[in-house]
Order: sequence, then C-alpha cells, then structure tokens
Amino acid sequence: MANPIDSRTKIDFPFFIVLDGAMAVGSGFSRGQIQRTVVRGLDSLPYIPASTLKGRARDAAARLARTLGIYVCPGPNPKQMCGAKGSLEDACLLCRTFGSPGVSSASGQTGLIWRDARICDSQGQPITITDSAESEAFYYAKTQVQLSRQRATALEKHLFTTENTVENLRFKGRIRGWLLSARMMAGQYPAEIVLLLSALKLLNFVGGGKSRGLGFCTVELPDKITIGDQDVDTTAILANVSNLFNKEDR
Ligand SMILES: [Zn+2]
Repeated sequence: MANPIDSRTKIDFPFFIVLDGAMAVGSGFSRGQIQRTVVRGLDSLPYIPASTLKGRARDAAARLARTLGIYVCPGPNPKQMCGAKGSLEDACLLCRTFGSPGVSSASGQTGLIWRDARICDSQGQPITITDSAESEAFYYAKTQVQLSRQRATALEKHLFTTENTVENLRFKGRIRGWLLSARMMAGQYPAEIVLLLSALKLLNFVGGGKSRGLGFCTVELPDKITIGDQDVDTTAILANVSNLFNKEDR
C-alpha cells in the first residue's frame, strides 16, 4: 500500500458566491417577532457556513456524476457509503472528493477543508464593521400571509415573519487541504478536482426560500488554481468534465 502522505495532492483556492437577490440561510432560531432568522457570524454580519456550501456542492456533484454515468455510493445512510469500509482507498469519486462519514481527516487520508464564506466587497476585500448595530443594514424582515391551498384564503394566526439578507451580497469562500492520490498526470487533471470545480460552477442557489426567489447565486472561480506545486488554468480543468466517465471507468 502506498504511503498516503506520498500520494496526496495539495489544493488551495478561493472562490466567490455572488447572490442574485436576497438570501436566507436559516439559523433555525426565532428572535422577537421574527419566526425565521438567518445565520449571523460572530461579527453579526451575514455569512454562508462551510457545511451549507459543502452540502450543496456535494449534491450538485452527485447529480453531475450520475448524469455522466459514474458510480456514486448510495447516501445518506453512512452504512451504505464508502466510509463504512474505514478507508477511502477504493471509495467512489464523490467520497474521494467530499469525504465520507467514518473517515476522518485525522486518519491522514482526507480531506479538503471548506471555510465559511465571508461577506466581501466587489473587489473581494472583507467587509468589516466597528459597531454590531451597523450589521442591521445587511438584513430585512418580511411578513407574509400563509394561504390555505384549499380555500385560497388567509388563515388566522398564519402571519409569519422571516428575515433575509439584503440583495446581491457577495461572499468569499476558500477550499484547501489534500486530495488523496489525486496526482497530476501529464496533461491530465485529477478527477476529484474536475468534479469539485464543476460542482461549484453548477451551484446556483444557497440557503432556503428558493420558491420565494431567495438564494439564487453564481459562483466565480479564480483564473488559476493551485494543485500541488502548479498553478493550473481553471477553464482547462473545467473543459475536462466530459472525460470524467472514462477516467472512472475501471
Ligand atoms: Zn462513496
């Protein structure tokens, strides 16, 4: 067995999530008269949790892989996923890219670390505030009436108030860490990085309220991405998506 340390590839790149409209990544908590609030960072500013981003990207990657005819282990039951074997050595492409329950990064095998995406300006610089009261400018609350589908009438006590972020915010995320055995071959890119970048490009909404038009976004990737000790053109990597099936056909 190859030493996992020898066959790991270092990955590090930032990316931007650009919202088209408002966003509502729910906190699961109510506050005062607001039944549904959105997540806030320690600085009270909106952010997108790493787990939210990773979950959405994994879903997009799973759909893409199945569309391309690539085997993906059945989730979400951990017992049926590749990690149940305790190793990612023979794991499916999805688990090799996003990890699998039961295989921790402490084992030295995986993984990529997803950072929370922080709010930034159009130049990609972090937005900071000096007083948490300033953060209120980034949110608004909206009261809606829930309608009875049968009677199309407003039901009493069915007014609810939700919080959203203001429109068209921009967030900066970062993914870095190690991919197992994803070596750069001459003129070829590791399947994991092709899948990862393709999934990020496919990500077109984040958070809740999609039916209400919330959370629509585009993801902007940097022109170049660091793979191992090389800076590789992102468009060249993305152009390899149609070759994924052949790479995985083994
Ligand atoms: Zn798997």
